[in-house]
Amino acid sequence: MSIETREKIRAHIKSFPARSSHYSRNQNPNKVYLSEELNVHLMWLLFLKQYENDQYVKYTSGKKHDMKPVVKYKYYSNIFLTEFNTGFGSPRSDTSLKCDQLQQQIENVKSDEELVNQKSNERRLHQSQADNGYTLLRRKSNEALGKNNFDMMTFDFQQNLPLPSLTSSDMFYSRMLWVYNFGVHNCNNGDGYMNIWHEGVAARGSSEVCSCLFKIIRNNTKRSPNLVLFSDGCVGQNKNKTVITFLQFLVENSFYRRIDHYFLYRGHTFLPNDRDFGLIEKRKKLTKATLVSDNVTMIEGSRISQPFVVNTIQTEDILDFKAVAERCMTKSTLKSNSGEKISLNDIHWFSYGQSDETNATHTSSITVDHGGEVWCRYSHNEMEAWKKVKIFKRGVTSISPPTAKYSGSVPIKTAKYQDLMKLFDKGLLNEETKRFYQALTHGNETRATDADDVDDNTVMDYDY
Ligand SMILES: [Zn+2]
Repeated sequence: MSIETREKIRAHIKSFPARSSHYSRNQNPNKVYLSEELNVHLMWLLFLKQYENDQYVKYTSGKKHDMKPVVKYKYYSNIFLTEFNTGFGSPRSDTSLKCDQLQQQIENVKSDEELVNQKSNERRLHQSQADNGYTLLRRKSNEALGKNNFDMMTFDFQQNLPLPSLTSSDMFYSRMLWVYNFGVHNCNNGDGYMNIWHEGVAARGSSEVCSCLFKIIRNNTKRSPNLVLFSDGCVGQNKNKTVITFLQFLVENSFYRRIDHYFLYRGHTFLPNDRDFGLIEKRKKLTKATLVSDNVTMIEGSRISQPFVVNTIQTEDILDFKAVAERCMTKSTLKSNSGEKISLNDIHWFSYGQSDETNATHTSSITVDHGGEVWCRYSHNEMEAWKKVKIFKRGVTSISPPTAKYSGSVPIKTAKYQDLMKLFDKGLLNEETKRFYQALTHGNETRATDADDVDDNTVMDYDY
């Protein structure tokens, strides 16, 4: 094969929009992902369609045996497999980072039996802790169902939904508009709230998480005094100073007397939200979406017995809880009252407002009010002593109310905007749809995403 042909194949592979994720950047820094609808064989056919159309026509008209392409499948796939570190589908962190790390460490010390044993024990302990978290979730869900001793919600983001959804081969070469869905599952009655917006409306960060939860809590007129929350322990999204400030804000403003926020172990977590999202994913396969409203209809129709409640989030709905956290909370690492540094990564339980505390011999327990302190534990074990943390900066006595995060819409990348416009030039989308996409603001300035606003499942457009 000539050098030019090889170059042409490489350029073709690079012409598909790729994504990377925070998770894959930790695990396998150079790995990128193409659309889950693609595979190497389909890419090769698209290559033929572009450069050797007579061969492509033979393929699609059932004359495969007559084909004599210059670029055979074998050549194309060889370059793809040997020169690119590229996968298909979504780089979601389905596996546990800790398990992966321990597995690697065990392999690294293979020759040392003692070290292998030590690491294997560590892994067993981690797995049993993860199991305990899941057992706790099930127990609390059973307690909550059909009763109102306490409010209980679990929450998570669904995988990003690309818009428009793929309908023709031209779509494979185009960057898409990301649509976010933040799901909140009410464990008292099984309701599912789906909060949906696209990347031109708001980001996918901690202030967005808090704003969606706040809206649901404010609208709930039959609140119990206590709230129980479960989420995975992703530091960027759910376990950070922004969320701590928000939950403390709820207690201070008497939305709840007591809030317990439990974190499950990533990769061992199966939240009720995953079941909700599974139903939506199934429905998605049967749906062509060109506008956000198509996604709304799709989500509303994905659970028949108890349809999901869909909130379309607007830019002005997002409150800047992150800025509130910066005003009120210390910038440095959290420290307990006894001077111990708190490792956010290891925390699996935050308690706000009020907590139960046992005496040293665990013979009795009392309820303690702890207004300005957040209490935390590294496990889900009620026997573990609380780590008590004063969260406010010196001079701050209460949490100031949040203001709007955005003053206008969020610009999408210019390259993405141009890709979307090209779909119209090709006549793939109608006029009504065109107006929506044309109105998107765009620019090349990098968005102000703070490191701790990036969660493991954030999928980013990747430029080669
Ligand atoms: Zn694990």
